[in-house]
Amino acid sequence: MKRPWKDVSTPLRDGMIHWPGDPECKITRVNRMEDGAVCNLTHLSMSAHTGTHMDAPRHFIADGMTMEQLPFEAVIGRCRVFELDCADQITADDLKKIRLSSGQRVLFKTRNSTRSWSMNEFDKDFVSLRADAAQYLADQGVMTVGVDYLSIGGFNKDGVETHQIMLGAGIWVIEGLNLSDIKPGYYELICLPLRLEGADGAPCRVVLR
Ligand SMILES: [Zn+2]
Repeated sequence: MKRPWKDVSTPLRDGMIHWPGDPECKITRVNRMEDGAVCNLTHLSMSAHTGTHMDAPRHFIADGMTMEQLPFEAVIGRCRVFELDCADQITADDLKKIRLSSGQRVLFKTRNSTRSWSMNEFDKDFVSLRADAAQYLADQGVMTVGVDYLSIGGFNKDGVETHQIMLGAGIWVIEGLNLSDIKPGYYELICLPLRLEGADGAPCRVVLR
């Protein structure tokens, strides 16, 4: 019997933590049955890069592909979860110690999964991919990379470079995963971002088994 699916997306909540400077996540009920309305109705307002989401190349590449051009093979299929115990940034040297291959879908579990998501404010010291690690991933030709906090690049460190390198290389990026319940190894991945036309990113639900 197959193991149950595990949800590795972060719950979307009103007022949840977001990248500093990005629009707030607002989730409000505009019609309430308890107030006599015939149905409940929720209004959503947030950046496309809220919670668990994907980055399309268009995020940092002016003429890059947009969300609806995402190939399903980038987000459905076998993936490998690596656990890295980096204290600061993931470097190319860290990645040279693990086995990466062309066309692979890889998710990186770091201390972010347990630490950053349990904080009440944005974690500026989350573990991110240093530019040389981004270049190494591009050189290896991986297809998809998932990380366990809100950005592949750091806060005030390599944020722009890491995105430019990876999105420029055509790597599809999943950000904002919570891998705290996931052991390293091989999994079946299903990640379905919203079909936002022309968008540079989109919220997604991600499950593993
Ligand atoms: Zn993003």
